[in-house]
Amino acid sequence: MGSKNLKALVSYGTRKVPVHDPKKFSQIVREWNHLLKAHQMTGSDLGNYGTALWVNRSNRHGILPTRNFQKGRFEEAEKISGEYLADNYLVRNSGCVSCPIRCERRVMLGNREIKGAEFETIGLLGSNIENSDLNLINEWNYHLDLLGIDSISTGGTLAFAMELQERGIKDFGLKFGKTDNILEALYNIAYRRGEQGELADGVKILSEKYGGEEFAIHSKGLELAAYDPRISVGLGLGYATANRGGCHLNAGYAALLEALGPIPVPPTDLEAKPGLVVFLQNGMDAVSLGGSCVFTFMMMIPNPAFKIKESSPLKPILGKGTLLSGGLLNNLGKMLPWIIPININALLPHGEALYHATGIKMTMGKFLQAGERCFNMERLYNIREGLTGADDSLPSRMTDQPLEPEREDTIVDLEKMLPVFYRARGWDEKGIPTSKKLKQLKIDI
Ligand code: SF4
Repeated sequence: MGSKNLKALVSYGTRKVPVHDPKKFSQIVREWNHLLKAHQMTGSDLGNYGTALWVNRSNRHGILPTRNFQKGRFEEAEKISGEYLADNYLVRNSGCVSCPIRCERRVMLGNREIKGAEFETIGLLGSNIENSDLNLINEWNYHLDLLGIDSISTGGTLAFAMELQERGIKDFGLKFGKTDNILEALYNIAYRRGEQGELADGVKILSEKYGGEEFAIHSKGLELAAYDPRISVGLGLGYATANRGGCHLNAGYAALLEALGPIPVPPTDLEAKPGLVVFLQNGMDAVSLGGSCVFTFMMMIPNPAFKIKESSPLKPILGKGTLLSGGLLNNLGKMLPWIIPININALLPHGEALYHATGIKMTMGKFLQAGERCFNMERLYNIREGLTGADDSLPSRMTDQPLEPEREDTIVDLEKMLPVFYRARGWDEKGIPTSKKLKQLKIDI
């Protein structure tokens, strides 16, 4: 789109969208709304604090990217947290059309009401460049939206440039903790102005030109989102294998289970992780395919899990059980549509809603398999465009340098996890979907 100077595509229709069974569809929508409102995360946490609620949680867990992912904890995290935002800046919450979760923050910039920053923006333009001024992050976020630039890639690239300066490799006029020239840098990047305009290329291309590939924090050319995967190794495997590159959503978002949620899935456990990641990646793709916000997938964490006390012996058992169940479901993947021939609306109402909307019989199993089909088609597209298994990678800071030096297990051991992941996906040892898998998914190439 950029090469064609195309900014956006806008479409609209004038005809009514036919619904297969309007009565049953309205009924499931009402039920779904009720379930979302009753759930701790979608009905309470996200509405109260937005995604910024994960700042303090990820900092406590030690995965909040700090100083270009050199550390996982930021001393001033509290000042950029969702709680701080709610107490000091929040005017009201808002959200996408008809969404009952309403995770959007509305804050004031001078006398103008604007959209407040989300977790990813806060992590990458806050702790990752050692900035603790939330007001500035809100302001930069506003300008980035106007410019049409992604705040994750921008924050990751600024932090990379700061580390280049710190190591005396290249000076773009950017330093950790220095904030007075960032706004100008954003415009320089957007308009490719001056020396800083080169930052528009992102960390992959910059590192190939200037060096620093070991701390160029990206996968397949996309800068990583605001979770250090070394104490959330399932997310690390997800980042490395995501078809979009370092995207936490296409990666399967395992950090929600390994670090941020109420069920403590062992964060550095390698064994059953590939199976769980495959399940999560398929689930996230299925939810997106159905046209729903990915946050609706959080209902898969049963509400009672939030009520269990931190000290309860049940917690680690649940964590281990969840870890194993992903792999188990995945091993049965071939039979998924048949082993889950029903819809469990309390966990995943998407299938039933789609059925009443379209008339296509959709069970939970079929729904998840649609996600798997999608993930495989994305993979085939990448292969056609020249990507190989070698691109399922992370910079060596993630794979070889422990995040916590005294804990050797705080790395993303891709060498161990990738072969198991490929097998769990039904791909060959080079990461190419086998003809058997494609046949099973009814993908004809
Ligand atoms: S649809 Fe998703 S992103 Fe939009 S307000 Fe609802 S929860 Fe937030």
